[in-house]
Amino acid sequence: MHLPGPSFARKIVLWQKRHGRHQLPWQRTRDPYAVWLSEVMLQQTQVSTVLEYFERFIHRFPDVHSLAQGRLDEVLTLWSGLGYYSRARHLHRCAQEVVERWGGQFPSTAAELMSLPGIGRSTAAAIAVFCFGQREAILDGNVRRVLARVLAYGADLSVAAHERALWDAAVTLLPDTDQAASLASYTQGLMDLGSSICSVRQPKCALCPVQTLCQGHLSNQASAYPVKLRRTKRSTAQWWLLKAQTRSGEIWLTQRPSPGVWAGLYCLPWFDSMDQLFAAVPAHYHDRVRSTSSVRHALTHKELQLHFVVVQLPRTMPPVMATGSAGATARGAWYTPADWAALGLPAPVRKFLM
Ligand code: SF4
Repeated sequence: MHLPGPSFARKIVLWQKRHGRHQLPWQRTRDPYAVWLSEVMLQQTQVSTVLEYFERFIHRFPDVHSLAQGRLDEVLTLWSGLGYYSRARHLHRCAQEVVERWGGQFPSTAAELMSLPGIGRSTAAAIAVFCFGQREAILDGNVRRVLARVLAYGADLSVAAHERALWDAAVTLLPDTDQAASLASYTQGLMDLGSSICSVRQPKCALCPVQTLCQGHLSNQASAYPVKLRRTKRSTAQWWLLKAQTRSGEIWLTQRPSPGVWAGLYCLPWFDSMDQLFAAVPAHYHDRVRSTSSVRHALTHKELQLHFVVVQLPRTMPPVMATGSAGATARGAWYTPADWAALGLPAPVRKFLM
């Protein structure tokens, strides 16, 4: 792997100062709580989506103490729609550990930060750089793409040794300084470049500050990098989701078991088959059961085919979920629209109910 010299970091820093982002809410602070929250939200989610969630979250939980004391239910509700709910559960556990183990102060080194739940190497490095002026390299999805292209690094990044080699390169490419401001600009610059210029498809190389150093671009092969061959194979499942509704509009919801898909979120009763669903509905209401729509919903490791079914039931006769169905023995309750609107619901379920 041929690495460019120190001009690489200088170009990134200069570009970030002139063209990078400076006004994001988590950039106006060195508070590790805000930076950590933004970094976790930004994993697998675009900045434009995160902005709204970040403001709402920080308004309700302004510091690590309030989050540690908050109910997981409420954290999941605020997270509802962002997806990847394990991030929200880790966030809550992490806040509790920061309070219990660290007296409410985030540790200042990347190594210590990495010992907390849900904080990986890249997130730890970002917090250490932005909040504590440490000289650490990040390698999130966007930065991995930029560096793999600049270095024309064609090794398969699903192999741990190859990923480690890219990490080593990221460390070598850091600016040759301990100045906190330059390290922060460099780190932010790589993030900005990855999200705005060096996009997955059709990178805008003509606008890129490192185009003269980028081996991927110079060989006209930018889009061939990064290489990741071993894809996670998604399993598939079909669920029938029952919207049981009373005459006054209340809906029966149950809480998803943990661990598992949508752990801890509130959900319509779910079944592996239409037969199981019918078994949960009192027999003399079977003729009121109506299928409505089906949607496909992709999770990280699973693809769900969701079939929505509706039935009107008396308040005294909620659906009964049988042991052994995908829904197991979850208990539930009737919720008015005002009640369920404030609950943490999986995105496709919320969309259906709306
Ligand atoms: Fe990405 Fe193109 Fe810049 Fe290379 S020159 S880093 S491929 S945008």
